[in-house]
Amino acid sequence: MPEGDTIHKLAAAIRPRLEGKTICQAWVRTEPRGTFKRGPASTAPAANPFLDHGGLVGHRVERVYAEGKHLFLEFEQGVLVRSHLGMYGDWHRYQPDERWKKPEWQASLALWTEQDVLVCFNAKEVELLEVATIRHASFRCRLGPDLLALDADLGPVPLRAREFLDANVPLVDVLLDQRIASGIGNVYKSEVLFVGRKHPLRTLGKTSNSELQSLYARARDLLRRNLGGGPRVTRFIPDGRGSLWVYARRGQPCLRCGTRIRVDRMGRDMRSTYWCPACQVR
Ligand SMILES: [Zn+2]
Repeated sequence: MPEGDTIHKLAAAIRPRLEGKTICQAWVRTEPRGTFKRGPASTAPAANPFLDHGGLVGHRVERVYAEGKHLFLEFEQGVLVRSHLGMYGDWHRYQPDERWKKPEWQASLALWTEQDVLVCFNAKEVELLEVATIRHASFRCRLGPDLLALDADLGPVPLRAREFLDANVPLVDVLLDQRIASGIGNVYKSEVLFVGRKHPLRTLGKTSNSELQSLYARARDLLRRNLGGGPRVTRFIPDGRGSLWVYARRGQPCLRCGTRIRVDRMGRDMRSTYWCPACQVR
């Protein structure tokens, strides 16, 4: 699942291809992935050279940016395209005459410029919004502070957590809840809990405001240190023993204490959580 840092890197990769460019064909599908059908060829993007879904054709892309796990494309006429990749989404770039590597019916969003075709396959969500209304819209209120924003203020994080969630919600679910703060995905969830020495099923009610703030401060630090590209690193000790503390290290010795790392499905969505039973006691 793409994490906040992935989306920021993605925005950086897409930006030179789209910012300032005029769209000459557009394909936007806002129904969620999973409801897609193997549509007849006549509905597929390449079958129609004059597609203009969403009224984007002929307009310039003003800005490409990420917020939390959402990628935003802002158009000059005041339209904003928001996309969320979810578990299965990804972006491809093609030459205008190049054959796509995935079937067209899996495309959630495709944008043609003079030079490139950018296709987002299998997005969890694609939404067309008006810039003027989004500034005050509920969407922004629903998203917690973006941990990758330079001015991210962690002050309101504990309050948001207690406002949105019950005291018995475990930390694995708190960290993944994008309303509290946005950017943490499944990898950072495990890593942050390990670094902060918290049992994954410790409840929100048993966690103090300052403990919450320090968990999110660590998450922010790790996300920021991974913006540069290259493999994800949460353990900055160049001893060849690993660049992640626990994630995907099931059965291997803990890099702090030697106990075998466990993986358990935990929380509301039963997502894999890697942890050390000796370092992260309840
Ligand atoms: Zn350990």
